[in-house]
Amino acid sequence: MLTRVSRVNPSNPEPFKIDLAARIILDGGLVVFPTETVYGLGANALNPSAVKKIFLVKGRPADNPLILHIQHMNDLKALARNVSRKATKLAREFWPGPLTLVLEKSQRVPQITTGGLDTIAVRIPSDIISLSLIRAAGIPVAAPSANVSGRPSPTRASHVLEDLYGKVDLIIDGGKTRIGLESTVIDMTSPVPVLLRPGGLPLERIREVIGKISIHSSILNPKKDHLKSGKGYKSPGMKYRHYSPKADLILVKGTKIKVRNKIVELARRMRNEQSKSVCIMTKNINNNYIADIVWFVGNDFETISRGLFEIFRYVDNHNIDVIIAEEMDCVDLGLAVMDRLKRAAKEIISV
Ligand code: AMP
Ligand code: MG
Repeated sequence: MLTRVSRVNPSNPEPFKIDLAARIILDGGLVVFPTETVYGLGANALNPSAVKKIFLVKGRPADNPLILHIQHMNDLKALARNVSRKATKLAREFWPGPLTLVLEKSQRVPQITTGGLDTIAVRIPSDIISLSLIRAAGIPVAAPSANVSGRPSPTRASHVLEDLYGKVDLIIDGGKTRIGLESTVIDMTSPVPVLLRPGGLPLERIREVIGKISIHSSILNPKKDHLKSGKGYKSPGMKYRHYSPKADLILVKGTKIKVRNKIVELARRMRNEQSKSVCIMTKNINNNYIADIVWFVGNDFETISRGLFEIFRYVDNHNIDVIIAEEMDCVDLGLAVMDRLKRAAKEIISV
């Protein structure tokens, strides 16, 4: 298949480029576009054969449902039923933005889009290109992350080219995504809402608006949970080993000084074993790490989030054997960063 690449101005998208992309989606094709979280692989969410292509191209298991992207709250009426007051409150407060709500589904949404579930996941993105595209298409756009399943989510068009060139009709290049992590997913169908995936909107901010939210066990303990059969999963995506770089990721937890000492020891061992290693650092201080690359990823969560998947991709493309990362606080965006690190980790060492 011929894949076209179209560079679009992220702050003032050229209408003829957006119209072309919308036309492809309406004709049942696949268009990759940037959102504020990561790049999405978009198709008409109401067209089963278009949605099927998403699953094929990504190699995504059929029971892993897709997020519907809409451009206005009014679009919810046709797609969801029994939307609670709390859900409406969250939508009013945080849409457009990196928050996905799981709601009861209406008849209009095909089963294939929701992986056979009777709920939908839906959000309004804030990125101008994505909003313009959804508006021009005039239908809800199903758009999971635009990577082959199991690879890190793409935060640049070049990442999408690596995974999907020749498999989609069009890739819109709108530059680097602002947040760099996927959206926060909350199940609003139970009396106490449940956090299904930490993401670009911090849990603390959501709790400020609706109070109590419980955290699904697969977030508290992802390593143990992803090995299970998948029974009892609220969000099927959580049972798969997401976000996994080819290199072995070792995550070191514990008090700062012990963590540092352990990382020094591990990096030295890798060197002796002639393994190529990367240390991910959140403090740009003098250290005696002797890894092949010591990567300062920033000391604030926004910067760390923005660059995390890019590091995974870099490592995949440069034959690095081992990534050594230190634990971060599970507050603010740190909860999502740690979730991705834990899911990517081969080993978690507590010191
Ligand atoms: P992705 O778009 O690739 O970032 O993945 C979407 C995430 O949303 C996956 O973890 C899905 O399992 C989750 N999701 C989508 N639809 C639903 C739903 N109806 N109920 C629960 N989780 C969902
Ligand atoms: Mg994904």
